[in-house]
Amino acid sequence: MNKHSPFPWHYYVRAIRSRFFFIILACVLTYVAYSLYPETFLGKEVAILAFLFILVSIQTYFRIAPIRHVLARLEAVQEELPYGKRLDLIYQKDEFELIDQVLGLAESQLKQQRESYENQVIQSDTILEYIPNAVVIIDRFKNCKQYNGQFKEKFINNYASEKSSQNVELPLGMPKLWKIFSQDDLSDLLDSFDQVLFSKKPTNLYGKNFPEIHKYFDIAITPIFDNKNEVTGALGIFHNVTQSKLNDKMRVDFVANVSHEVRTPLTSIKGYAQLLHAQQNKLPEQAREITAPVLEKINSNTERLKELFDNLLKLSLIESKSDINKEEFGINQLIQQIGSRLKGKYLHQKFEVSTGEEAFICGDKKLLDQVFTNLIDNAIKYSDKELCQIKVGVNKSKQNFEISVSDNGPGISYDEQERIFERFYRIQGASDRAIEGSGLGLSIVKHILNKHNASIKATSYRGEGSTFTICLPIIPEC
Ligand code: ADP
Repeated sequence: MNKHSPFPWHYYVRAIRSRFFFIILACVLTYVAYSLYPETFLGKEVAILAFLFILVSIQTYFRIAPIRHVLARLEAVQEELPYGKRLDLIYQKDEFELIDQVLGLAESQLKQQRESYENQVIQSDTILEYIPNAVVIIDRFKNCKQYNGQFKEKFINNYASEKSSQNVELPLGMPKLWKIFSQDDLSDLLDSFDQVLFSKKPTNLYGKNFPEIHKYFDIAITPIFDNKNEVTGALGIFHNVTQSKLNDKMRVDFVANVSHEVRTPLTSIKGYAQLLHAQQNKLPEQAREITAPVLEKINSNTERLKELFDNLLKLSLIESKSDINKEEFGINQLIQQIGSRLKGKYLHQKFEVSTGEEAFICGDKKLLDQVFTNLIDNAIKYSDKELCQIKVGVNKSKQNFEISVSDNGPGISYDEQERIFERFYRIQGASDRAIEGSGLGLSIVKHILNKHNASIKATSYRGEGSTFTICLPIIPEC
């Protein structure tokens, strides 16, 4: 027992008071009985004692009501406890020892719970600390509740040093998320946290630029629920992708530089070949017969190399793009523009492009122009008919636009319908051998559509034309 526990004086006084009451009552009754009937004292004394006994029994019955209540509750608690932890012989103890035991039990349970809670906190702190990413947990009002060293080092220290340089006093306690990410270009990050708290669904931000600290992060935001399935906050995990962004940039720069360096000598080779071609009639007949096909080959191969480097450059630029512009535009107008542009390229090939009902789609117009140019260009390039017929149609469902580009060309066999979207994949067929291409056109198409969260598939039978179907999500807020 605790030596410093206060003595329960009021219980002591109450106990003495009730016993005194009965002693005084017994004395008074004995006195009255003795005064009234002194000759039959014993008989009256027994009657008085019996009366007192009944009185004490009734009073005690009501006095132990709280103990009965405690026992009933204890019974219920005991059911929840492991067998070894239950109190033995509980009904044989006196009430204070019982209360003492119950308190002891509660105390040991509380101690265990506190220990297990402290262990859990240490565990979660250790996990949080050793996660190699910056992690923050916020409440419903976007106050930081917990964060790890990485988050502190990357964002809080930076925020603190910025404020101290502005001589602004920092608020005590946990900082608010909107104060840490207060810059205008981080508003979309705060919006994403809001959206997760509101929609109760996780979301991701890819390649988010933090200009202040010169770093890029992929950010995963997940709602945190309580046991009533209510959102109590959100968890943000910031994965540093600066190095891979730099590598991407280096790759794009490298491809751009190589492409530029290669195109310059190619243009001059092509120029010399054309010059020689123009001077052909000055050569003797025999020399002309030899040089003409050679010059033709030099011309077409330099053109092919130029196209290959152009496509490589396009592909790596698209891959490195993290954001795309979004605007709404009519698809039919775009297709007509592409058709007229390709008329200049295919002067000796007959083709017609037809469109259906106008639809307004949302996306990066320049990139989607590239998608339809590549599809229509392929349809004309691989056509084996006198007149190449291309149809572009749009079907609108609840969530997507289904845009199909079909032709009456040679078709693509089932096995190759998936593979044609791979980089450098070209169908090895007798008719294709003569057709120039880099094998990158459809790969570019696929990458652009990925950036729009869209997909593409080819359906075709050999000899019956091909249909390329694009599934583009409808963006209501475009
Ligand atoms: P390329 O630059 O060689 O045209 P693509 O990636 O655009 O590369 O196309 C890959 C292959 O898919 C091509 O080699 C071609 O055989 C086939 N292909 C693409 N579009 C069509 C089409 N409309 N009809 C028939 N074959 C096609």
